[in-house]
Amino acid sequence: MGDNCKDILNKCSRCGGCQAHCPLYSETGRESFVARGKIELLENLQSGNLDWNDSLAEIFSTCLLCGSCTENCPNGVRADKLIMSARKDLVTARGLPIIKRNIFQHLLKYNGRLNKAGRLLSVYQKSGLQKLMRASGILNMLPLDLGKKESLLPQIVSKSFRENLPGLNKLSNPRFKVAYFTGCVTNLVKPQVGYSLLKVLGANNVEVVIPEQFCCGIPAIASGDIETGRFLAEENIKQFVNLEVDYVIMDCATCLSTWLKYPELFANKEAFDLAKKVIDINRFLVEILDIKIFSKELGIKVTYHDPCHLKRTPSGRSSPRELLKRLSPSYEFEEMEVSDRCCGSAGSFNLTHYDLSQNVAQHKVKAILKSQANVVASSCPSCIMQLEHSLKKKNLDTPVKHTIELVADCHQ
Ligand code: SF4
Ligand code: SF4
Repeated sequence: MGDNCKDILNKCSRCGGCQAHCPLYSETGRESFVARGKIELLENLQSGNLDWNDSLAEIFSTCLLCGSCTENCPNGVRADKLIMSARKDLVTARGLPIIKRNIFQHLLKYNGRLNKAGRLLSVYQKSGLQKLMRASGILNMLPLDLGKKESLLPQIVSKSFRENLPGLNKLSNPRFKVAYFTGCVTNLVKPQVGYSLLKVLGANNVEVVIPEQFCCGIPAIASGDIETGRFLAEENIKQFVNLEVDYVIMDCATCLSTWLKYPELFANKEAFDLAKKVIDINRFLVEILDIKIFSKELGIKVTYHDPCHLKRTPSGRSSPRELLKRLSPSYEFEEMEVSDRCCGSAGSFNLTHYDLSQNVAQHKVKAILKSQANVVASSCPSCIMQLEHSLKKKNLDTPVKHTIELVADCHQ
């Protein structure tokens, strides 16, 4: 742990204020899951009173990194940063679990392998094998709750968005030229988000380029595998740095927040220059394009879930709402209760801690039901998948869509 983190540790006064804001503490009541409890353990690890063991590894992996404790701490303690740093120390001390090591170091670093894995999963789903496995009950007999985890598997496309790209038009006099970082979920699971984005930007005279690109790195970084995270960040910087574009557009809140942290991984000019160009699609449409939407009257009630990684970026709360309001009268925006509470997805947290993650998500399900919305919008493909799964578990078929899909619906 660096000096910087030691300074953060020393700022904690043990007031316990973070308990009221931690979604995991609210589910479990366990002090070790909240920021104060983890800080106590970190101090003991620091001073040598404790050594890393299985139980501590589990405690430090049990965090959504939602940042709610950090946002509400009266002393400005960056607990999320401490927890990330602890995960890095854990990997140094004990190495990565074998599944994560294989995924991060042998899959994420290679787009070809990632696409192949996507195709295999797509065959598993489309050939009827998935249906058979689910109906046979075999999945429920597997260890480590693999049956439940398999139920989270979204429909994977047989050809990724970037492999299946329509020709991108070079415009003669575009208002802006942008590069699009598609993120893995849009690329492999939700290509409709990408097509919607291209449709809306094309209709508004914005030229789009989509260079070769890699996972943003967050699955590895959040698991303490900083080396792989740095490798992926460096590859992305190389691909984007020489493009002559005004902005780098993101449709994924998590990718956006990761790109904004690239300068922390690489304190070089390229990383800083790119971080200045990175912008969320909602903000781009509202603040840069000032988009006007002439929608027809349908009056669909829409509510909005705030992704944790978007709401703390500039205009991260206001621009998606402003965009949704501009969709009236086609869509009528209705705020939901606890709109900015974490949905429990947190990258792979819903896989590693399925039951706890679903308990966290049920607060959103209740709020969605109470809002009586016909459709839920969000701005992070991972949150969208989590909400879809949690609603389905309750036999609810309320669609969950990216804001850009709704905007595209209003562009004929
Ligand atoms: S992390 Fe912040 S809110 Fe939590 S106990 Fe420490 S000072 Fe209080
Ligand atoms: S980041 Fe979120 S889940 Fe983790 S300790 Fe803080 S409030 Fe709890």
